[in-house]
Amino acid sequence: MTGPTPDRPRDVELPVREELRGKSPYGAPQLDVPVRLNTNENPYALPEALVARIAERVADAARALNRYPDRDAAELRTGLAAYLSRTCGHRVTADQVWAANGSNEVLQQLLQAFGGPGRTALGFEPSYSMHALIARGTGTGWLAGPRTEDFRIDVDAAVDAIATHRPDVVFVCSPNNPTGTAVDAETVLALYEAAQAAKPSMVIVDEAYGEFSHRPSLLPLIEGRPHLVVSRTMSKAFGAAGLRLGYLAADPAVVDAVQLVRLPYHLSAVTQATALAALEHTDTLLGYVAQLKSERDRLVDELRATGCEVTDSDANFVQFGVFDDAHAFWRRLLDEGVLVRDNGVPGRLRVTAGTPAENDAFLDAVRKLMKEDAT
Ligand SMILES: *Cc1c(COP(=O)(O)O)cnc(C)c1O
Repeated sequence: MTGPTPDRPRDVELPVREELRGKSPYGAPQLDVPVRLNTNENPYALPEALVARIAERVADAARALNRYPDRDAAELRTGLAAYLSRTCGHRVTADQVWAANGSNEVLQQLLQAFGGPGRTALGFEPSYSMHALIARGTGTGWLAGPRTEDFRIDVDAAVDAIATHRPDVVFVCSPNNPTGTAVDAETVLALYEAAQAAKPSMVIVDEAYGEFSHRPSLLPLIEGRPHLVVSRTMSKAFGAAGLRLGYLAADPAVVDAVQLVRLPYHLSAVTQATALAALEHTDTLLGYVAQLKSERDRLVDELRATGCEVTDSDANFVQFGVFDDAHAFWRRLLDEGVLVRDNGVPGRLRVTAGTPAENDAFLDAVRKLMKEDAT
């Protein structure tokens, strides 16, 4: 557990790029408190049988670490394609799948290939702040599009924004972080049509929380739509945030395009071996997902019972409020030993679904604070 970075005096002026000057790196506080529900991690450690299988597979990989890994990660992409085909209602093949070190790297490669200097990307905020940060890091201009009062994508306003700004890349996060809001297929299709009419541009659907949704995956929409990409990750549903494995599904031409910008041998043999072991245990891991979904629904119900306003959630986290001073409430929860996330959405906080005991501790703390406020 690392603490917060100490504030060091910066007496060295470096000639960093203009757009990076004075900026802070991405990062939620990693504080050592009893109940940590702030980064949407899966609270369940990997099952021991999987841990043993990882050790076996990694040992095999270690025997060949004098060699570079499979640059194309062929076996892993075949495994991921089989997983997607089985769970997303649409058959995909290995040449439609690409993997990298977390979906953040997948998104970075996509912006390196389809964004960059002189180009722009559009997202609908509040949403995952890394979309804007990866845009900045790749020299891609960022455009913040609107959402409705209840955090949905306003289709008419979104289509207008696309027609007006003609972005090169459109981000659709479904379920959306930090609000938990899922996007329906009709909306994605409307945005896709608008993006094709305007440019044509790429539409990236970030489904980092896809497995937790009440709705089916948007993956089948890639059929016949070569400018649509769905990105996924093992960080959330697979309980493997520490592994760093994300992937995308799209037309094989998209996979060819990201290969132009990926570093050679970007995915280590150890990572590939570990991810393949995880795929062997998909059913057990999806069993945890089912438990987390029911805990998520319980958090929604019990938070509503306290009088909180709660955004419907299709993810493994819940956005709740409305507080006059959300940051003050965040701080008081921390004093109760519960760390949640203040994403800067006015009046709202976000809590990750943890184990039943962690969720109970969180709910008890909220009830206690709400009672204090009522008296
Ligand atoms: C957590 C998260 C990711 C996952 O990032 P990884 O690099 O795969 O760990 C991607 N998109 C969203 C919206 C997320 O919340």
